[in-house]
Amino acid sequence: MRQIRVNEAGGPEVLAVEDVVAPTAGDGEALVRLHAAGVNFIDVNQRSGAYPVSLPFTPGTEGAGVVESIGAGVGEVSVGDRVAFAGVPGAYGEHIAVRANRLVPVPDPVDDESAAAVLLQGMTAHYLVHSVCPVVEGDWCLVHAAAGGVGLLLTQLARRSGLRVIGTVSTPEKAERARDAGAERVVDYSEEDFAAAVREHTDGAGVRVVYESVGKTTFDRSLGVLAPRGYMVLFGQASGPVAPVDPRSLQQGGSLYMTRPQLADYTRSREELLWRGQEVLGLVGSGELRVHVHQRYPLEQASEAHRALQGRRTTGKLILIP
Ligand code: NDP
Repeated sequence: MRQIRVNEAGGPEVLAVEDVVAPTAGDGEALVRLHAAGVNFIDVNQRSGAYPVSLPFTPGTEGAGVVESIGAGVGEVSVGDRVAFAGVPGAYGEHIAVRANRLVPVPDPVDDESAAAVLLQGMTAHYLVHSVCPVVEGDWCLVHAAAGGVGLLLTQLARRSGLRVIGTVSTPEKAERARDAGAERVVDYSEEDFAAAVREHTDGAGVRVVYESVGKTTFDRSLGVLAPRGYMVLFGQASGPVAPVDPRSLQQGGSLYMTRPQLADYTRSREELLWRGQEVLGLVGSGELRVHVHQRYPLEQASEAHRALQGRRTTGKLILIP
């Protein structure tokens, strides 16, 4: 089978197609024939070495397809089932062996491309809105990179929960997307000081939650726009890592909270994985959650997909078709 391999960390050019022997399903595993793999920022960070992984490795942690065979002791899925997964390494390829208890069934109205496009970022948006901190209807939140993959889904789910969303973006086209997803106010932070804009939009009160995924270039000002007892939810670092934080800055900001969450900790049990995954896929199936696929690439063009994502040229999701 064909798969992408990274033999040394580096730029997008290190993503190479290789022919390898297809895996088989071991005990407790299912062999999935992939129809689509999602491209996520974590793939860029692992490929570049920003998030160290042992080499060589196959990038990609998200995909959807059909179960081709199962190993001993598998009760969660059967051959022929349509399934999706997130947080499982090695998705940029034609086949993958996955622990069966990490697979989420894909309901009929949802096609494989949409499932591969939404599961990881949708479950991320789900835990950010429902589980990371308490929010009250009518609270303001700030969503950075609101037209990105997580951003568009987070904006929609935050709105569904009654949050009022201020989104940041870097182009007028992205602003349109963020507005369409439900952002009440959109700030082009490449043109305007977003902190001043947030204070103005909230009549000086600040926001209850900052969903901070940009990191280095926005973090300090994001901390400054939190209302007293607000929540700094630092879940990504698309512009680079955040410098160490002095806890006194949380006191000075008004008894603030800060967390650095990751999806794996919010899908630890099968019950929690199925709760989030089925809710997200169900909302897509019913049309209540819209997934915007910006572009599809053949596996061979994985490096192009990475260039586009890290070059800020995308809105919504990129997927690879093996
Ligand atoms: P996006 O589609 O959001 O792409 C990243 C976006 O970040 C860009 O489009 C760009 O939007 C913005 N950005 C701002 N500065 C930079 C920069 N210097 N370089 C690149 N992009 C920049 O990616 P994803 O939806 O895949 O991921 C969003 C973030 O969420 C990432 O940081 C990712 O690591 C994180 N994440 C965290 C998870 C968790 O559980 N902790 C799970 C999933 C994702 P604009 O042009 O509008 O500024």
